[in-house]
Amino acid sequence: MTDPEKPVREIRINPIVPSESVLVATARGLRPKKAEAPAPRDTRAHVDTCPFCVGNEQMTPPAIGTYPDGAPWQLRIVENLYPVLGDDRENPNLSFGLQQTIDGYGRHEVMIDHNQHGIAVHEMSEQHLALLFSTYRARMEQLYKSNPRLRYVLVFKNFGPAAGASIAHTHSQFIATPVVPDNVQDEVENSRTYYEKNHRCIFCTLIDEALTFEATLYDRESGEIRRKLDVGQFVIERGKKFIAIKPFASRYEWEVHILPLAHQSDFLAVTPEDVADLARILRRTMTRLDAVLGGAQYNYFLHSVPHAPNYADCGASYHWHLEICPRTSIPTGFELGSGLFVNTVSPEAAAAKLRAVPLD
Ligand SMILES: [Zn+2]
Ligand SMILES: [Zn+2]
Ligand SMILES: [Zn+2]
Repeated sequence: MTDPEKPVREIRINPIVPSESVLVATARGLRPKKAEAPAPRDTRAHVDTCPFCVGNEQMTPPAIGTYPDGAPWQLRIVENLYPVLGDDRENPNLSFGLQQTIDGYGRHEVMIDHNQHGIAVHEMSEQHLALLFSTYRARMEQLYKSNPRLRYVLVFKNFGPAAGASIAHTHSQFIATPVVPDNVQDEVENSRTYYEKNHRCIFCTLIDEALTFEATLYDRESGEIRRKLDVGQFVIERGKKFIAIKPFASRYEWEVHILPLAHQSDFLAVTPEDVADLARILRRTMTRLDAVLGGAQYNYFLHSVPHAPNYADCGASYHWHLEICPRTSIPTGFELGSGLFVNTVSPEAAAAKLRAVPLD
């Protein structure tokens, strides 16, 4: 076993996107940033003035959909009042020289995730979380079908003021764009290159490594044990169909990724059984994060294979996943200027702490 408490100071390369590296520096004196106490989140069940609360439906644009069918609603999708992208073309494309633009065409929608105002994901029932993720799937599919120009539908959630949520009522967002976001593009292209060389999905390889609980490196000449690697130390939760992993090169101190154990490139391919297990693993993971952080505020987002012709061959090489990024510190000038993330909690120690949370 490697000791998770051992101080670490090393630059770790993200295996999926090698151009992205993280400085893991845990020794106290090296800490370049201090954790800010996040503004407390709103935990009230109902707020009379909240546009997303039950009874205030007239305060939002008309619902695109409510779920399950019929009242009372548990989930409600509405147009974003301040969309970052829209149907219209107010500004004609006047590209000049290096100033190239693409139409800001797209869709921006909000899903009210629960009829209780301040409920957190780990407080929602597994059944509700399954409905939430099935509805992400259903709406993503509808958006892709609505216009072939849409190449990517990003589903994400900002939870708590520290994560940039402007409305306290729990909600998710869909942003459908005619371009593939850079982060997704980097993952899709690098995993395709890996597949071309190794004929294996790099995410499946990572899962296999995570499930290899111990590996021993022997010295070639003396035959003595050089190092024992405990690779399984990055596993937070393992279900029938999903696994929650603390990435070895985590950008954020408490970042956790959830992936399907069996290879699947497109989130649209999930079955109701998949979603039921995902709901369970997510609920357990969020409970652990909330217990360790004392009220987790986070962003989570789905990364799935883009619906773009140039990525039509990525079915075997890409593997969809949910990235959960709790916000415990503000990026420093060093991070913004260098692009090098600094993580002051070793991912091994973070995983050990998360695993130690007692759950029923
Ligand atoms: Zn509300
Ligand atoms: Zn895979
Ligand atoms: Zn990703």
